Amino acid sequence: MKKTYLLLLVLFVLVFQNVNAQYQITSENLIKTVSYLSSKELQGRLGGSKGYFEAANFMANEFAEIGLIPFNKNSYFQNLKVEYNQILPKAEFSIYKDGNFIKKYNLGKDYVFRGFSGAGDINAQVVFAGYGISIQEYDDYKNIDVKGKIVLVFKYNPKWKIDGVNFPSSLPREKARVAREHGAVGIMFISFPNDKNPQQPIGSTMHGNGEQVNIPQIHIDLPVANEFFEGSKYTLKELQTKIDSEKTNLSFALKSEAKIFVETEYVKDKETVNVIGIYPGSDEKLKDEFVILGAHLDHVGGQAGEIYFPGANDNASGSASVLEVARMFAKNKLETKRSVMFVLFSNEESGLEGAEYLANNLGFDSNKVTAMLNMDCIAHGDSIQLGNGNSAPNLWQMAKKIDSENAKLSIINTWSGGGADATPFHEKRIPSLYFVTKNSYTHLHCLTDTPKTLNPKLYEGITNLAYLTILNLAKGEYEREVIAERVK
Ligand SMILES: [Zn+2]
Repeated sequence: MKKTYLLLLVLFVLVFQNVNAQYQITSENLIKTVSYLSSKELQGRLGGSKGYFEAANFMANEFAEIGLIPFNKNSYFQNLKVEYNQILPKAEFSIYKDGNFIKKYNLGKDYVFRGFSGAGDINAQVVFAGYGISIQEYDDYKNIDVKGKIVLVFKYNPKWKIDGVNFPSSLPREKARVAREHGAVGIMFISFPNDKNPQQPIGSTMHGNGEQVNIPQIHIDLPVANEFFEGSKYTLKELQTKIDSEKTNLSFALKSEAKIFVETEYVKDKETVNVIGIYPGSDEKLKDEFVILGAHLDHVGGQAGEIYFPGANDNASGSASVLEVARMFAKNKLETKRSVMFVLFSNEESGLEGAEYLANNLGFDSNKVTAMLNMDCIAHGDSIQLGNGNSAPNLWQMAKKIDSENAKLSIINTWSGGGADATPFHEKRIPSLYFVTKNSYTHLHCLTDTPKTLNPKLYEGITNLAYLTILNLAKGEYEREVIAERVK
């Protein structure tokens, strides 16, 4: 008799568990959310744009539906202000020779506007201006006249130095500022022609600090640049080789003109939001401690009403993961000691602005944050890396152990100093890990970063690993370690 009762009890527990713990992480649910976030409707989720707010509202509604507690009284939104620029419809970029129209180029394939391009309607001669640097020790603008002209420069800085002097920022805003200072009315950036796989034009809002430089700024493909160099005494490859070996500037006017037409909507302080929901812990003492799971929801937007960057891997993938992990906690009514904060950041793409804002405006002492896990680009590639493990070795070991007992996703590499949105938290000496797949960047900031390119099995495995790691932390398993490195 006793045995039968025991059997019945076991059966009852099994059935009961099945009813109450049935929500599971599946690649289907993950990719369903990714497909929406990377859809045309949201136009690449540029921070502060209509499409971004649609994504943010969607996530906030999901948080509400599963019963997370809003971070900000009755709202899941944490407001912040960011620099914003939208490339408006009817853009054009064409090549002319001796005043004659030759051809019009395709946006998204032949060229892309830089996220913070200024507006302009210009038709002017193109002048090659090397690295676009103008300092005492090295001046690409020496001996050339760029007044009223368009400069064409390398997108990066030299890999060498002169007299150990550091070059100014290599970011587009600085190079555009220098070009305008010399009288240029537009700037075209090119990748290194001598690179093994030169970067194609990508969507990017990473622009550097300073004032808006109101001249057109575009990134053009190398075959297009070669068409501008027709009739010149050097090819682009020869030019790069010569400049780099002689460490001396070699700028000259090309025998081609460019027409660029672009209108923009620029707003210096545009409202945007982080989306934050809390799953409260129930331990009297530990519930005031938080573990944060975050991912950036924004991407680099669309341009001219013609193209948009879907950002499926970057970072609809991390965002959908945050939602699935939150659902695991809420739908399965998990008992936790510490509280979990689920966060979707704005404006990672323009320089970690959303994460920086939250790290500085938690509303409580940052010592109360036990750990921060960030997911960025976690669905394309072949295995997982957990960054910042050298700075938070105990946390890294914990995640590694969980992985070795579960999906075995091969965590080999790590590094120190944060990484993406984990960085501002790391700088507050909060133990952090940065989840990113290996070989993640095949389609980075390209029109081809679509759900089709994702690896569902890996994606599901990584989300499970993040879930189990956060769960362990929420159950009170880890003691916050001291981050030894010096911080800013
Ligand atoms: Zn990105």
